[in-house]
Amino acid sequence: MQRISHWVNNKVVAGTSGNTGKVYNPATGEQQSEVDLASIAEVDAVIAAAKKAGLEWRSSNLSRRAEIMFRFRELVVANKNELANVLSLEHGKVPSDAMGEISRGIENVEFACGIPALLKGGYSEQASTGVDVYSIRQPLGVVAGITPFNFPAMVPMWMFANAIMCGNTFVLKPSEKDPSAPMFIAELLRQAGLPDGVFNVVHGDKIAVDRILSHPDIASVSFVGSTPIAKYVYETGTKNGKRVQALGGAKNHMLVLPDADLDMAADAAVSAAFGSAGERCMAISVVLAVDTIADELVEKLKTRVPKIKVGPGTDPTAEMGPLITREHRDKVASYITNANGEGASVVIDGTDKAKDAGFFLNPSLIDKVKPGMKCYDEEIFGPILTVMRVKSYQEGLDTINSNQFGNGTAIFTRDGGVARQFQFDVQVGMVGINVPIPVPVSYYSFGGWKASLFGDQHMYGPEGINFFTRGKVVTSRWPDPRTSKIDLGFPSAR
Ligand code: NAD
Repeated sequence: MQRISHWVNNKVVAGTSGNTGKVYNPATGEQQSEVDLASIAEVDAVIAAAKKAGLEWRSSNLSRRAEIMFRFRELVVANKNELANVLSLEHGKVPSDAMGEISRGIENVEFACGIPALLKGGYSEQASTGVDVYSIRQPLGVVAGITPFNFPAMVPMWMFANAIMCGNTFVLKPSEKDPSAPMFIAELLRQAGLPDGVFNVVHGDKIAVDRILSHPDIASVSFVGSTPIAKYVYETGTKNGKRVQALGGAKNHMLVLPDADLDMAADAAVSAAFGSAGERCMAISVVLAVDTIADELVEKLKTRVPKIKVGPGTDPTAEMGPLITREHRDKVASYITNANGEGASVVIDGTDKAKDAGFFLNPSLIDKVKPGMKCYDEEIFGPILTVMRVKSYQEGLDTINSNQFGNGTAIFTRDGGVARQFQFDVQVGMVGINVPIPVPVSYYSFGGWKASLFGDQHMYGPEGINFFTRGKVVTSRWPDPRTSKIDLGFPSAR
C-alpha cells in the first residue's frame, strides 16, 4: 500500500508515530494509501526546521523570492494535468473541476509574484526638522496553515504563496483525507529553487493541530474548515498569543427576484449548487424564490438537475464526481431522506446512486424548505439544492441576514437599484450580482462574515499581505551638529 509521509527540508520524511490514516479513492470506495499522522515530537521537528530556515529566508531579497515564485508558477502550469489527476484520485474531482481549482490557485501565486510592489511602506521626509519617518512591513516568522479536504491544492496556495513571499517560513497541516496534492506542490516548490525548510508539510489529526496551536515558535495560524473547528482554532490560537484567521462553514443563498432572467438564474443555481458535488464553501445551497415566480423556477430547475452527468474523475465527460467519504455521503443522503418528514418536498431524490461502490450521490432538489428544518439549518456540503419560497425581496433579505453564516450570497435581478440596495444591506462577506459564486479574484481578499470567519483579516490578496507581516515605523535623524541639543520634553514636531 502506498504511504504518504511528511515533507521537511525539501525531502520526504517517513513518520515515526505509528499512527496512520486511511486515504480512499472516492470513485471506487477502495482504500488506496495510508498517510502518516504526526506525533507532538514530529510536529516540533518540522517547526524547528522551519525556524532554522527562517533566519536566512527573511534576509533573501525580494527579487530572488519573486524569481522562485515565477518559476513555481511555470512548473504548476507545466504539470497541471498530473496535479489534476492527483486531485481526482483522492478527492474525486472531475477534470473540469480539478483544472478550475488549479487555475484559481495559480491566480494567488501570480499575485504573490508581485511581492516587491506589495511590500512597499510609506515615507515622510522632514516629519520634524531633520527627522524622517517611514514604515516597513516585516515577516512574522514561522507561520502555519491548516486546510480542509475540498480544495487540497488551491487553499494551501491561498496561504503559502503570500506567506513565504513576505519572508515567513511555512508549515502546512493539510487534510488527512486527501494529502497528496500538497506533497506534489512541495516537490514543485523544491524544483523552483525554494530553499530547504521554507515550505514544509506535516500530516496529522487533532494531535498535530493542537501542537501547532500551542507551539511557542508558531507566530500565526491560517485555518480553513468547518465552523466548530474554525472557532476552536481561533479561540485556542489567540489564547496562546498567535495571530489567527479561521474561515468556517457556509450556507449560501441565492435570491431570485421576479424580474430576473429565470433561465439564466436556473442555469446559475444548478452550476453553483452541483459543481464540485456541492463540496464548496461558496456553493449555492438555498434558492430564495419570490412566490410569483417560484413554481416556474422550480420547473426549470427540475428539468436541468437530472441532466448532470455523474461519474468518476477518470471519465472526461463526467460533470460531477463522488463525495469525499462514505460517512459524509451517508450524512448528506440523510438530509434528503428526512426532508419529507420535516414538511419539505423532495422534488428529485438522488439517494439511489448511494448504492454504488464509490461515494456517489445524484444531484437532488428539495422544495419548500423553511428555517427549523435540518436541511436548512445545517451546512449540507453535498449535491442538494434547496428552494425556499419568500413573499418579497425584504423577506429574502431578512432570511439571509438571520442565518448564522455569512460566507457568500447572490441576487438575480435586472433592477440595478435593488441590486445596489442588496449589496448595501446584506450581511455577507462576498456578494454576487447575477454571479452565483462570487469568489474574489486574487487581488481582492476572500472571507465571510459571522460564523463563516473568526478573526480580523480575510484570506489572500491585500489582507493576506497584512496578515503575514507586521508593521514597524522608524523615526530617523542623521547627525547634524547644528540642530543637536538636550531636550527632556515629550517628543513633538519642531
Ligand atoms: P474540517 O473542519 O473537518 O477539517 C479542516 C482541518 O481541521 C483539517 O486539516 C482537519 O484535519 C482539521 N481538524 C478536523 N477536526 C479537528 C479537530 N477536532 N481538532 C483539530 N483539528 C481538526 O473541514 P473539512 O471537512 O476538511 O472541510 C469542509 C469544511 O470546510 C466545510 O464546512 C466548508 O464549508 C469549509 N470550508 C470553508 C471555506 C471558507 O473559505 N470559508 C473553504 C473551504 C472549506
